[in-house]
Amino acid sequence: MKNLDKLCIHTITTKPWQLEKAVEKYAAAGVKGISVWRDTLENRNIVQAGEMIRNHGMEVVSLVRGGFFASTSLEKRRAAIDDNLKAIDEAAALGSPLIVLVCGADPGQSMSISRQQIQEGIEEILPYAGECNVKLAIEPLHPMYAADRSAINTMSQANDLAEQIDSPLLGVAVDVYHLWWDPELQQEIIRCGMNKHLFAYHVCDWNVPTTDMLFDRGLMGEGCIPLKDIRSWIKEAGFTGYTEVEIFSHKFWAEDQDQFLNKIIQSYLHHT
Ligand code: ZN
Repeated sequence: MKNLDKLCIHTITTKPWQLEKAVEKYAAAGVKGISVWRDTLENRNIVQAGEMIRNHGMEVVSLVRGGFFASTSLEKRRAAIDDNLKAIDEAAALGSPLIVLVCGADPGQSMSISRQQIQEGIEEILPYAGECNVKLAIEPLHPMYAADRSAINTMSQANDLAEQIDSPLLGVAVDVYHLWWDPELQQEIIRCGMNKHLFAYHVCDWNVPTTDMLFDRGLMGEGCIPLKDIRSWIKEAGFTGYTEVEIFSHKFWAEDQDQFLNKIIQSYLHHT
């Protein structure tokens, strides 16, 4: 019988709740993992936030998010490095073992130049991540975000990059929303697991029709993503970590969040 021991929720999923409230509600519902978005940590003592989470019997799964390495502007690339170093400090203070990277893209330059800058950016921050005992996960994004959010759009590209940089600190976050359509997904997930690069697994669903490129993610079971197939590939790849629910949705944020949390738990149990 499936239980909630491997369920993690991203704070942005229940965006109307402040961090304390989210932790209190998740813990009361039996959720064991939380991935913390950086905006929820603004103007607060991050060490204490981490302690508060652990005092509720929960574990920080990841800090979301770093990245945005690609830019035509050298100044912006430098600023991105600084911000990533800050994210590493935040992850260490929070007690998060992992930072998820949305790698970045700039429509003013080619995808290959963006990918080169992404590689250079990751290589530059890796030593500091190692000192702080924080790992990094490349999250490939759906190609609809290729212009300005990420030049890494498939598992194959993420695997290539992780293998090229070749560090035990660097892996890949599989998010079904971004990757479900890829005909090579199964083989690339297995490849990722074989290379010990499979660091995180994010779920939601793809609504048909999708009405907003960013804020219309569905609850698992509502859309067309073959969640159970992908889950079986993740398992086959040797992944034993959390299943992280990450939903950005104007519709769900407008609902009663207690009821929404209940729906998340039911859909996790029945559809993932
Ligand atoms: Zn994700």
